[in-house]
Amino acid sequence: MERDAKRLMQKLKVGVAVVLILWVCGHSLAPQTRSQLRPSIKVTDAQIVHADDQPGNWLSYGRTYSEQRFSPLKQIDYKNAARLGLAWYVDLDTNRGQEATPLVVDGVMYFTSAWSKVFAVNAATGRLLWSYDPKVPKAWGANACCDVVNRGIAIWQGKVYVGTLDGRLIALDANSGKLVWQQLTIDPQWRYTITGAPRVVKGNVLIGNGGAEFGVRGYVSAYDATTGKLIWRFYTVPGDPAKPFEQPILEQAAKTWSGQWWKIGGGGTVWDAIVYDPELDLVYIGVGNGGPWNEKYRSPKGGENLFTCSIVALNPDTGQYVWHYQEVPDDDWDYDSAEQIILADIPADITMGGKIRKVILHAPKDGFFYIIDRETGTLISAKPFTFVNWATGIDPKTGRPIENPTARYPRGEVPPIVPGPVGAHSWQPMSYSPLTGLAYIPVNDVGFNFKSPDDFEFKDEALNFGIDMVAAGMPQDAKIKRAILDSVKGKLVAWDPIRQQQAWAVERPGPWNGGTLATAGNLVFEGTAAGRFEAYRADTGEKVWSFDAQTGVMAGPVTYTVKGEQYVAVLAGWGGVFPLVAGEVSFKSGRVRNVSRMLAFKIGGTAKLPALPPLETPQLQPPPSTASADEIRRGEAVYQRFCSGCHGDVAVSGGLLPDLRYSAFLKNDKWFAIVRDGLLKSEGMVGFGKEVSQQDAAAIRSYVIFRANQTLSKKNHTANAEH
Ligand code: CA
Repeated sequence: MERDAKRLMQKLKVGVAVVLILWVCGHSLAPQTRSQLRPSIKVTDAQIVHADDQPGNWLSYGRTYSEQRFSPLKQIDYKNAARLGLAWYVDLDTNRGQEATPLVVDGVMYFTSAWSKVFAVNAATGRLLWSYDPKVPKAWGANACCDVVNRGIAIWQGKVYVGTLDGRLIALDANSGKLVWQQLTIDPQWRYTITGAPRVVKGNVLIGNGGAEFGVRGYVSAYDATTGKLIWRFYTVPGDPAKPFEQPILEQAAKTWSGQWWKIGGGGTVWDAIVYDPELDLVYIGVGNGGPWNEKYRSPKGGENLFTCSIVALNPDTGQYVWHYQEVPDDDWDYDSAEQIILADIPADITMGGKIRKVILHAPKDGFFYIIDRETGTLISAKPFTFVNWATGIDPKTGRPIENPTARYPRGEVPPIVPGPVGAHSWQPMSYSPLTGLAYIPVNDVGFNFKSPDDFEFKDEALNFGIDMVAAGMPQDAKIKRAILDSVKGKLVAWDPIRQQQAWAVERPGPWNGGTLATAGNLVFEGTAAGRFEAYRADTGEKVWSFDAQTGVMAGPVTYTVKGEQYVAVLAGWGGVFPLVAGEVSFKSGRVRNVSRMLAFKIGGTAKLPALPPLETPQLQPPPSTASADEIRRGEAVYQRFCSGCHGDVAVSGGLLPDLRYSAFLKNDKWFAIVRDGLLKSEGMVGFGKEVSQQDAAAIRSYVIFRANQTLSKKNHTANAEH
């Protein structure tokens, strides 16, 4: 990170030269002077409600309150999209995952990058107007399950709102980027993180948080957008029943839990979807999984564990509960329901005469496409949008899943479960086109080997899934590994919600492809894990354009106009939980590098990305593996619990953070100062000495040395076989 900071400083110093040389595409980080800034940038509630009156802007996270990510713009259409070219790009000073959707207001684009930094640029040239760095301590990154990402901002009445990884909610002056107010929204004793975009609803900023995998209690809060004062907070899971409940509904919810869940939080974090419905005056939140994943160690005598894995409707003024629909009662599989919520008015029950109903479209991690009546919270229909084996269907009468009896691993050995915790669809936003009547879903096909450990102890510094992390790791038997890698895929699915069936699909070599954007030009845009940014005909799925983005593209694209000319923009940069944790599986789309940039396109754009520097290939030079099998096994267990969340499954890094098999410290006793004492804390590598003993740290090293030698011998074996 220090290197990134230096890079940025150098860029700022040579800013003038950069402006002169690159001014055609305007991608310098040199700020404009104050006089060049726009006089006032206002976005009101009424403007977001009537966002279709200004299709040239992108005013809130999902463009409109319905969060359909459909744009009425059609200057760029399926007939001319082949002539799309790069209009401009902005290089970012980070090499971590980029998940943000930019907002565009009257020719200015606002967006966030990894580490919760905020940028305002000229939307026609990419020229920097201002930037804001909330200076999140690098060590807080150890509390993030899923990379140090940020998915976006809200804009309202001349202010830009961002939630920071370390739990602050910040209001900035949209004109200058200067701090107006900030509030700490979490208790820093607990490992909360904010990665989701705030939403402004009726003068309040709504923000949730994440951390269910580290033992937190989920909630969503509303702060006065002008003053930053806390207005209301809704907890998604009950607290200690010996204390007064914060809301009456939590007394009911507590009856669906058993054991002492509150001691380790219970989970249920609201880390992504928070959607306002101006027609019904309700806020819908998507609630995440229970923590730990394993019910046996969360709620040992069962229970539905409300409101985990649910959509909950709240009163936007008070935060009071209105209704809920629980998609996965008593979850065991990390099936968050936090994923994006789309509001639509469609003839959802075609079999009952096709009356238009106000519905929620939801395609959460569990693999089912749900249509929910948003007036009452009742299920209208649900069908799997890809292969699933945890349930055979959703009972239309009860709204409950018909579980596969072999899916509950706390009750015994189970086959690999599909989807796994990556989810059939995660945070990458889907879109819905009212013109085609199709939802465009970035789908992951990734199973997971769940096994319940004989005992589980909550650890303050570790991943707290409550599962056997060694059993979940990639097996090293070549045939089994091949079979697993072959089964891991991704696809872009166009889904017909009324008929609950697939209209078309585009197969991808691997999962974790980008969010989608649908437009009235009969187009769907999507970035890919393999490093492309592409456009398809929305009605047929025919590919009409593809661009080499040089890096994995995950974020949701947007479209807007400046002076009547239409642009399409997307934040590029590979990362997030999948390449961070999944090890070898994360190379399924190729060894894509992280090159973090904002990319903007227009018809006839002529800007060019610089050539990628050649890839450095480090040499594996581990010391010989001399430890006993017991020591290596012990090291594997500790590594998987404490280290795999950042350095990758079974000591294979997906490329975001150091691959320990290549570490120079394997031969050096600084290893202990780093692992236990936090020698590299300022770079984000915190010390684990409270819970990882000297003996454990040595065992981790023995395991990594073993894995490095195993890799080396396989490489030599392959090289010999080729000769
Ligand atoms: Ca989760």
